[in-house]
This record gives sequence, structure tokens and C-alpha cells, in this order.
Amino acid sequence: MSDPSYCGRFAPSPTGPLHPGSLLAALGSWLLARHAGGRWLVRVEDVDPPRTVPGAVSGQLAMLAACGLVSDGPVLHQSQRDALYEAALEQLLREDKAFVCHCSRSELAAQGGIHHRCVARAERAHPAVRLRVPPGSVVRFNDGLQGTIVQDVHSEVGDVVLRRADGYWAYQLAVVVDDGAHVTDVVRGADLLDSTPRQILLQRALGLPTPRYLHLPLLLGPDGRKLSKSEAALPIDPARPLPALRQAWRQLGQDPTIGAAVDEVDPWLREAAAGFDPARLPPGDIPTLHVAGEAAPFAR
Ligand code: GLU
Repeated sequence: MSDPSYCGRFAPSPTGPLHPGSLLAALGSWLLARHAGGRWLVRVEDVDPPRTVPGAVSGQLAMLAACGLVSDGPVLHQSQRDALYEAALEQLLREDKAFVCHCSRSELAAQGGIHHRCVARAERAHPAVRLRVPPGSVVRFNDGLQGTIVQDVHSEVGDVVLRRADGYWAYQLAVVVDDGAHVTDVVRGADLLDSTPRQILLQRALGLPTPRYLHLPLLLGPDGRKLSKSEAALPIDPARPLPALRQAWRQLGQDPTIGAAVDEVDPWLREAAAGFDPARLPPGDIPTLHVAGEAAPFAR
């Protein structure tokens, strides 16, 4: 299959070092883009300053470079794209698809936490802006790995925040505007499966195309539960990234003999790209793999 129009992406939030779960998404999205003969872009999702960790942007990009995973175009930084998000928000407000919302967190909590109508008793100096999600907003899509996903966004999510009351852009708006500009294929972790229907609704409201989606399974810790934040934050060794890449490759269900004889990153990536088989991707969560005779891939 060769599809030069294919455009994939990896979009980390700079909330800490690149961890094994993000490496899985980075490598998985890179392999699928290479397999399609398409492009792969890196986008830094730094629209949430309270959660941004100083040094994390450069640290993540340096780690990706050490892993040989280099963007095929300029790296986009969401913090520099305010004008695009502003224009999208203006369009939605003008078309009455979005509205200014003065509800406080406690007023919303009293309504069950799902916004269906404004219940604010007072105007706030800095209101949020939400997407109108009317009854019947049921979204169905076919995920490349997880099958058919259906969500009633009205009853399960409610009116989606687009600009937060603290003035920052909501992830949902920024990701939809940016994916809408060039991305044909979103490959990312299954923790975002639940966000996809609201992103599709937002694409429709903005008149943007819906990309294809493929959600990779999440990593499980040794106890069989999802990796905790602290475990997930174990850094990868940038001086020795190949063990972590090999581990991600196995976690993606791929043939472990491919690239086994290679001990440098770039030739390993070439062999991996040539030998990658999307039919082997595992749909379910991935247990921790222990491989006899191999040192722990992640430096503590
Ligand atoms: N920035 C998000 C994260 O790091 C990923 C967003 C996406 O892939 O859509 O979890």
C-alpha cells in the first residue's frame, strides 16, 4: 500500500519526559505512516501552561531525535497557533454552534457534572466557551484497531469546553483545528478513544474532514493494571534508546526477530519500517513483557 497523501502525527503534551506509553504511540504512528509511504509530523501540545513542565518540550524532542523519530516537516507548537484557534472559535460563535458559559464548577457538579444548559447564578469575569451538543448527537466511527465505536456525546459528555474559564484553549479545540489542517490518520493511545466522538462532532461543526483513527492499546504494569503516572514517567535512556524501541516494537505485536541483529538506531528503524505488519497490532491492553537475557530498557 502506498498512499503519499497519508499524513500521520505524534502529538505529545510536555508534561514530563517521554515515557514508554508515549514511545509506543510515537513508534506506532511512525511505522504506520512509513508503511503507507506517507508523512509523519510532530506537534507539541503546549496549550496547557499549568501542566507544562519546564524543559519537557526540548527533552521530549531530544528523546525522539535520539530514537531516530524525526518529524517530516517543521515541528508545530500549539502555543504559537492562537490565531487559528481564535478563528475557529469565532466561526462557531458566529454560527451559534458555540456559546459563552458562566457556570461554575460547583454549579455544574450539582447538575451531575454534564453540561446541558447554563445554570449560572452570576456572570463570571472570565467565562468558558462551549460547543452546543444537542440531544441525539450520537457519533459512530470505525477505529482501525478497536472496531466500531459509538458514543452518545449529548448524554455521556454534554456541551464540550472549547476555551476554558482560565482563558486557555481546551485540548479538544486545539487538536481538532490542527488535525483538520493536514492530518489524514490519527494514531494514538486508547486513553483518547473516549475523546474521539467529541472531536468528530467538533470537526463536523467546523466543516473539517474527519481523519481515520487507530487507537493503540495501553501499557499495563506488572500487576495487570494500567501503568501509574509514576511508573509511566520512567525515563528512557537517550544514550541507549534501542532497548526501549525494541520493547515498543514487541509491544506492538511485531516479529521480534526483525532488527534483532542490528545495534544502531537508524538501521534498526529501516528494518522495522520494512518488516512492520499492521495485521499484528494487538487490540487489547498490553501486559508488561519480560524478555530473558535483556537488560531493563528504561533507566531509572
Ligand atoms: N497531547 C496528548 C497527550 O500527550 C495526545 C493528543 C492526541 O494524540 O490527540 O496525551
